[in-house]
Amino acid sequence: NTKEPWRPFNRSRVYMADLESALHYSLRVEVAAHTVIEGQELVSLKKYIAVLAKYFPGRTVVMNLLKSVNSWLQNQQGDEISYEAFRAMLDNSAQSQNTALPEGERWVGCQGSQPHLRRYPCGMWTLFHVLTVQAKSMESTDRSSPDCKEVLSAMRSYVRSFFGCRECAEHFENMATEVVTEVSTLQSAVIWLWSRHNRVNNRLAGALSEDPNFPKIQWPSPEMCAACHTVETNGDHKWIKKQVLSFLLSYFSSDRILTDYLE
Ligand code: FAD
Repeated sequence: NTKEPWRPFNRSRVYMADLESALHYSLRVEVAAHTVIEGQELVSLKKYIAVLAKYFPGRTVVMNLLKSVNSWLQNQQGDEISYEAFRAMLDNSAQSQNTALPEGERWVGCQGSQPHLRRYPCGMWTLFHVLTVQAKSMESTDRSSPDCKEVLSAMRSYVRSFFGCRECAEHFENMATEVVTEVSTLQSAVIWLWSRHNRVNNRLAGALSEDPNFPKIQWPSPEMCAACHTVETNGDHKWIKKQVLSFLLSYFSSDRILTDYLE
């Protein structure tokens, strides 16, 4: 395992290289652990790909691929598909023009100081936040999509069916049961995911999985968003949700995603 050279990056930006690496790992490594995809897993994969085809703010080639895999998958009428057939779609489409999901992992904002730190789980969180923000920002242009739980529900079933860290999946599933009662708009979906991610950060602070160079904090820090924080008269910390929402909508917005280090 040769050590990759460190890629300098801006800690307060989102990188397309991380999002594409997360897609590669998810679709070519994680889902590949299932030789046959059937029942609830097939439903989960269909929902996940449908949400990606709709909201992934990617390069044209990648979006073309997601759309063609999506239409193939939605046309599968049987109860099961083989991973091999799915993989052939992912890779065969690459032979048609302007359609590809780049191979391999190239972590940038999700690089870790050790090979076992950050990377894919970091990429998945980033992808999930980007998708909820993209759904919110497409709200006015896409009247046909009133389902505010669509993205959270797809990521919940993906995690339950496929996420390699089973302990993480269990924790996430426990939180995700709250979505039904707590999320009623696209903006509350964005806020819900942010607050649950902070809950996870809180639980994992100081754990072995923490990268010492990227400590788990209640995010965003006051340095990143001063307006997001306030201190109550009794000294307690309080989030200003309205400010947090506008911070998230800008931080994860498609037009701020950096394309450095892409092939
Ligand atoms: P991550 O927590 O992965 O965050 C990635 C980036 O997102 C950060 O660098 C920051 O820029 C941004 N960010 C941080 N907090 C927020 C926030 N609140 N809102 C928006 N953006 C934010 N690991 C376990 O050990 N146990 C678990 O139970 C567990 N459950 C997980 C469940 C899911 C669904 C996922 C995707 C991962 C889970 N993990 C779990 C992994 C863990 O949460 C981290 O992803 C991993 O430790 C890498 O941490 P990181 O420092 O790269 O930051």
